[in-house]
Amino acid sequence: MRVVARYDLFFIVSYALLIPLVGVLILWLSGRTVVLPLLLLLEALYLMLALRKPWQRRLGLRTSFPGAWREFLLSRSVYFRGLDQDGRMQFEHDVRLFLVDVRISGIGGRSLSWPIRLLIAAGAAAMLHGRPDWEPPLVDGVTVYPGMSFDRNYQVKKGNIAGQAPPRGPMLLAEGSLLQGFADAEDGFNVLIHELAHFFDREARKDGLKLRLRSGTVAWAEAISLEWQRHDHGTSLLSAYAAQNEAEFFAVASEMFFENPRPLHDAHPELFEILREFYQQDPRQVLEKNFKGN
Ligand SMILES: [Zn+2]
Repeated sequence: MRVVARYDLFFIVSYALLIPLVGVLILWLSGRTVVLPLLLLLEALYLMLALRKPWQRRLGLRTSFPGAWREFLLSRSVYFRGLDQDGRMQFEHDVRLFLVDVRISGIGGRSLSWPIRLLIAAGAAAMLHGRPDWEPPLVDGVTVYPGMSFDRNYQVKKGNIAGQAPPRGPMLLAEGSLLQGFADAEDGFNVLIHELAHFFDREARKDGLKLRLRSGTVAWAEAISLEWQRHDHGTSLLSAYAAQNEAEFFAVASEMFFENPRPLHDAHPELFEILREFYQQDPRQVLEKNFKGN
């Protein structure tokens, strides 16, 4: 993540230049100098609004990364543990920007403990690690429910829903399932990665993301759809849930990609290539350092 995303920077600079240009044109056509102070006011208002988010991010980076957070990440995130020094600095930077940007709360806006918020930010930072130009696609934030699950009526500690990724609304997570996802880092089950993958998937479809595969350049939506159709779900390493549709296939595969990438690569190399191109990283290179004592 960048303090100012390149896409945002382009528009900020373009509009900041456009406002005086339009003002000069009005002045030239009307000959009325009264437009000048109005123009200055408009430019100042625009810059205040446009630079609010980068300013908040910059403020969020001012303080040093808390030692207790680093210790927590080392004990709970195998991904963070496997990174080299530069990688860890980028990860910590992304965690802080995520926490500045994304509202994470309990039901009814209740505040949550820092370890819960940190775990959510850490999962997002791992998924964004190869994509510094991407932003977390969570404009409506994250709502965490108590217990292991909730039901279809959003009754807590009932039903069997561990998380949800509604197209309009916050990402929903059950706290117990979130913790469980990080407790066993190699089982290929992580509700945070699963739900966040749904948000990334929708963004990629909306933006018309293209993947550069060995077979050629292909649209993201087409690549994952074809892979889902030709995947042998009967003998797959992925859970049966992946057979439901291409969106669930990608979300389930993302869990395995970030938690247990080696078996996924060996069993399904084409799927692995698609995920590697999507996330622009190969988690094998990070996770396997844990076993080499680095
Ligand atoms: Zn799902």
